[in-house]
Amino acid sequence: MLKGIGASDGIGVGRVMIITEQTLEYTPKEITDIEAELQRYRDAVDAFCDNTMEQADNIRKSTGDKEAEILEGHIAIIRDPFMGGEIENLIKAHQCAESAVEQICKMFIDMFSATGDDLTMQRATDIKDIRDGLLSILLGVQEVKISDAPAGTVLVAKELTPSMTAGINKENIVGIITETGSQTSHSAILARALEIPAVLSVPNAVTQLSSGEQVIVDGKAGDVITAPTEDQVAEYSAKREAFLRERRELENYRGKKTVCASGEEYELFCNIGTPKDAAKAVEADGEGVGLFRTEFLFMDRNALPTEDEQFEAYKQASLILKGKPLIIRTLDIGGDKDIPYLGLAKEENPFMGFRAIRYCLKNRDLFKSQIKAILRASAFGDIRIMFPLITAVEELRQGKALVEEAKSDLKASGIDFDENIQVGIMTETAASGVIADLLAKEADFFSIGTNDLTGYTMAADRGNSDVSYLYSPLQPSVLRMIQRIIECGRKENIPVGMCGEAAANPMMIPLLISFGLTEFSVSAPSVLKVRKNIAKWTKAEADAVAEKVMAMATEEEVTAYLNTIV
Ligand code: PEP
Ligand code: MG
Repeated sequence: MLKGIGASDGIGVGRVMIITEQTLEYTPKEITDIEAELQRYRDAVDAFCDNTMEQADNIRKSTGDKEAEILEGHIAIIRDPFMGGEIENLIKAHQCAESAVEQICKMFIDMFSATGDDLTMQRATDIKDIRDGLLSILLGVQEVKISDAPAGTVLVAKELTPSMTAGINKENIVGIITETGSQTSHSAILARALEIPAVLSVPNAVTQLSSGEQVIVDGKAGDVITAPTEDQVAEYSAKREAFLRERRELENYRGKKTVCASGEEYELFCNIGTPKDAAKAVEADGEGVGLFRTEFLFMDRNALPTEDEQFEAYKQASLILKGKPLIIRTLDIGGDKDIPYLGLAKEENPFMGFRAIRYCLKNRDLFKSQIKAILRASAFGDIRIMFPLITAVEELRQGKALVEEAKSDLKASGIDFDENIQVGIMTETAASGVIADLLAKEADFFSIGTNDLTGYTMAADRGNSDVSYLYSPLQPSVLRMIQRIIECGRKENIPVGMCGEAAANPMMIPLLISFGLTEFSVSAPSVLKVRKNIAKWTKAEADAVAEKVMAMATEEEVTAYLNTIV
């Protein structure tokens, strides 16, 4: 068995087709007729753009806009005056077009590859794709035709470039294996969009596998099973059928309301990290965004984003959501989330230290500029503010006072915003659970952050394998915290949601229905599954489950029982 990264869920059973890199060899020549060579290069660029446009149109029809945009990006890159100018300069210095293209592309590939950053390294793949496309045209080499692959093919390549993927006929390709790539690489995005199981980053896949051999691709586990036995083929074929059946069934929940079997309605939101993710939330059929983790806007850069930059980002997300709710969480840094340019001091105990709302309240300019940006964006949609890591009522009061100050500033400048913007909190610390009754009187809503709440309640760091057995939202203590927070919210008539991972856990769902949660916020791929899981339960059935669970003394008992009923 070969191991890699499971990047697109599903099972594929088929025969290998190795996509080897084309030989794009040439002998560099010194050019005398510069004008003719420039023309040859420009014609190649035109042909490349025409081909790419055609591929983008095909992929737009078969897969979607986002995937087509990756290829259209190649046209923008090669038409970029800087890159094109550098290539032409080399031709003017008597180099042949092939050599000029190769050298300038190499410069960009080296530059992007050196960053170590996933997204930037992805740009190197784009440039390689452009280089190979241009060289094939200049050298008159026929490109590999993936579109001719027979039914039941598992594609195996060092790297799957966007232009290769554009040729995929999803009826015939049952799996993808590559030697490079990660969850966020183009190959992964495209494989998921095409719904083809994919395992990436399998070392030496191209040399270890041979064309025609049978393999099983398990895109969830990240496994490639070579020389499978008959039994394995039968077992995985059955798994594949079950997977496809579930996917089809889930589609029945698209466009439907989120209701449990006895008719109570819920809100089903998504968690996002960037404005563009809002589109994923809509695509996934999310009914809004229950958690926008704004720290991503502050990461991957060298200085703070300005108020205007933040405003544009929040507004963009809100416009994408077309009036659906958008809960924006203010900056949650510290703990495991570092932002180097802020120069946070190294702490003995960062999870108990100077983070999130604590940091923001002490850095009022930064905090106020974020709040003003959120308020300005609130003129464009249903936007709500959420403070992270609240442990005391004063923190909520001080945060709200700053919101009022920001409102006055905006009013004085004649800038529009939503006067009645809701200000809620994440209940994710043990303290906030204990004083949920007090907080519920002053917050407009609660959102339970079970990722942190579990850690802080159990005093157990999930990253520490010696204590990770304690880290479970199904611990009786954590369940009591959750139940209490929801109860306190209900008493004060404020909505209580959950944006921690536990909201998507099928074992938690009957308990949350019984406790009276009103909103679930989950990752985009979980939306339809959660809607289906909610629909399974009547309120009375959920109450009966909760009654049993809340009488149990250990997490082991709780898990064992819930495993038998979900
Ligand atoms: C949580 O703590 O449950 C949560 C949703 O926030 P984060 O995972 O960003 O800390
Ligand atoms: Mg948290």
